Amino acid sequence: MLFERARQVFPGGVNSPARALKHLPSSLVARAASGPYLYTDRGRLVDYCMAFGAIILGHAHPRVKRAVEEQLERGWIYALLTEQEVEFAEAIRRHMPSVEKMRIVNTGTEATMNAIRLARGYTKRDVIIKFDGNFHGSHDYVLVKAGSGAATWGIPTSAGVPQDVVKLTVVAPYNDVDAFLKAVKEVGDRLAAVIAEPVAGNYGLIIPDAEFLKALREETKRVGALLIFDEVITGFRLGLGGAQGRFGIRPDLTTLGKAVGGGFPIGIFGGRAEVMDLVAPSGPVYNAGTYNAHPVSVAAGLAVLKELETGEPFRTADEAAERLAKGIEDIAGRLGFDVVVKKIASMFQFYFKKGDVKTPQDVRESNEKMYLKLHEIALRHGVYLTPSQFEVNFTSAAHTREVVEETLAALEKAFQQLKTEIG
Ligand code: PMP
Repeated sequence: MLFERARQVFPGGVNSPARALKHLPSSLVARAASGPYLYTDRGRLVDYCMAFGAIILGHAHPRVKRAVEEQLERGWIYALLTEQEVEFAEAIRRHMPSVEKMRIVNTGTEATMNAIRLARGYTKRDVIIKFDGNFHGSHDYVLVKAGSGAATWGIPTSAGVPQDVVKLTVVAPYNDVDAFLKAVKEVGDRLAAVIAEPVAGNYGLIIPDAEFLKALREETKRVGALLIFDEVITGFRLGLGGAQGRFGIRPDLTTLGKAVGGGFPIGIFGGRAEVMDLVAPSGPVYNAGTYNAHPVSVAAGLAVLKELETGEPFRTADEAAERLAKGIEDIAGRLGFDVVVKKIASMFQFYFKKGDVKTPQDVRESNEKMYLKLHEIALRHGVYLTPSQFEVNFTSAAHTREVVEETLAALEKAFQQLKTEIG
């Protein structure tokens, strides 16, 4: 069996923890993907993980494929400036005006690591504030009370991060203005930056109050620290302007990734020109990368942006999430489950619990076992929900009405079966 072989060569049998399913004996094996579907060792599945948000147009979108193929014809790496990357950056800046200048790297992890380093270089201060359950990639500055796979596997604070680094990362509760103000006060004049997911997509889905985001903006400005919005998930998913456009908040620095690379490796950090000009070679904050602004990722990203600019992909993806959220609420309600569904744009997640979900604590109070049980049953009915309570379901432009109907019919059966199984 492939997973057995995989276990001999990879820790836990996988190359990223979120790919291992803690409620199943083996991970899924992918063979192909197209539109809303994944083709796996368990047959065809409607995909709601969408590579953890990296895909917004649907798998193997023809326009992205063509752009990549055209790039391959011209060679795929030069380690020189290209016209396409300038065009790409200009388009990003047009849609997200706070990103006056940027650097294109390869992953969201690199983007947040460099944004934090830059904030420290700019402010000449050391301490950052991050939020409980937010996830900013897998580097030392941010693997403290992190979400995503780190939460799923019960290792929010990674071993191997030096205590001296942990001390510089102060963790505050998410979506709690008073606690945030208290944390800022405690850190005092050592605060370099506050980094936040403006909509949290790594601890389930947590949509913060507008006042919380406003407090982040006002307070960082007041104390001379930078505000970093980590829009690796939300950028070019909550509309062309990201979460910052939707909530009308202008951060100093922004990180992007996932959707903006069309499924190819990408990360971007950018923001105020005066701050970005500190990045080498124009300034003393070092960043470099053999694969930075990789031509294949840039070609894919440009193709994605051109498609998103028509507005159509957002309409389809958002409508799909809306219908699924309503449908799940309806099915669960009819069958007597206490379920809370959260949704914004093309992101949704549901929780087996009473009341609302507005903080990581609310997520912790939901019944994770029931989620995983339902996940397992849904798989048998051809639906691949996001594989953890601490992740988010994503829709794409390929999730048409028919696909959504097919999914809801499958979920109806899955919830019924769950009811039977739990007696
Ligand atoms: N920031 C956020 C908000 C993310 O969701 C992720 C990935 N899930 C990252 C950063 C890290 O991105 P990457 O996996 O590309 O390193």
